[in-house]
Amino acid sequence: MKRRARYRKDTSPSLPLHLTQRGVIVIGIALLVLSILVTAAFTAARSSAQTALEQAIAKNSAASQTTATAPLTGAASSSSTTDSGTESPAASASEHAEGGPDSTFDASQVHASADPLLVLVRKDLPLEPKEFKPQNLVSLAPGKTLVKEAADHFQELLNAAAQAGHSLRIESGYRSYNAQANLFTRYSNKYGAAYAEKISARPGTSEHQTGLAADIGYSNGQCSLHRCFGEMPGGQWVADHAAEFGFIVRYPQDKVAVTGYNFEPWHLRYIGVENARTYVESGKGSLEEFLNTL
Ligand SMILES: [Zn+2]
Repeated sequence: MKRRARYRKDTSPSLPLHLTQRGVIVIGIALLVLSILVTAAFTAARSSAQTALEQAIAKNSAASQTTATAPLTGAASSSSTTDSGTESPAASASEHAEGGPDSTFDASQVHASADPLLVLVRKDLPLEPKEFKPQNLVSLAPGKTLVKEAADHFQELLNAAAQAGHSLRIESGYRSYNAQANLFTRYSNKYGAAYAEKISARPGTSEHQTGLAADIGYSNGQCSLHRCFGEMPGGQWVADHAAEFGFIVRYPQDKVAVTGYNFEPWHLRYIGVENARTYVESGKGSLEEFLNTL
């Protein structure tokens, strides 16, 4: 008892009690103000972080909407990369994994040319007859053929590209009606006819069946059958120089509504050197529109 009493006495504040109470109140208020400030700062930081996140999500979702069809193409293309080197159905399907919108262009209004090099083949304009097979197919690489005139000019294009420092190759050339039919059936069985229609061309409607269309790509497979090919030096060289060898980039970025195909910087169509020169001069930018100037 005595010890406790002494203890109390020893520890009893030397300051008067009312001063201690005032101190406690001041500290309490200070703590309160501090906590309000901290909370406010934290809330502000969090809300700005949240805004940034929301903006990022909104941006991302907008981006994924504009490229909604890209993953499909990408997925199919990567399957083609696996079996590149062979003219397998998968390889043929990939680059024509047409997630692209349908053309709003009326193909029936297109002026048909008597020049066989200017034949127009579209999803809504099949070859006649549908089973058409070109003559004079020559090989550029194992399983990759083109009509001789186109093949010769394609080889010249490859040589010129190599001289300019771009090692390019043919990825896909002539594709038969049967190859396309098998492909379409395969996709149809797997995904249903409606979806197969979207990711692959029906037999008789692929430009590759003419033997005048070639897919070009880097020899090392970089960006093979992907739109990033168009942004690479080799792809840009092709866009700038293909016409000198009689080829046009058949599905340009700004002509999706006309061609009904998404941008395919790798898909070249041979129309002949003279025609290609006139084509460039016309400034039309699509085979459909060019034909209507003739
Ligand atoms: Zn192609």
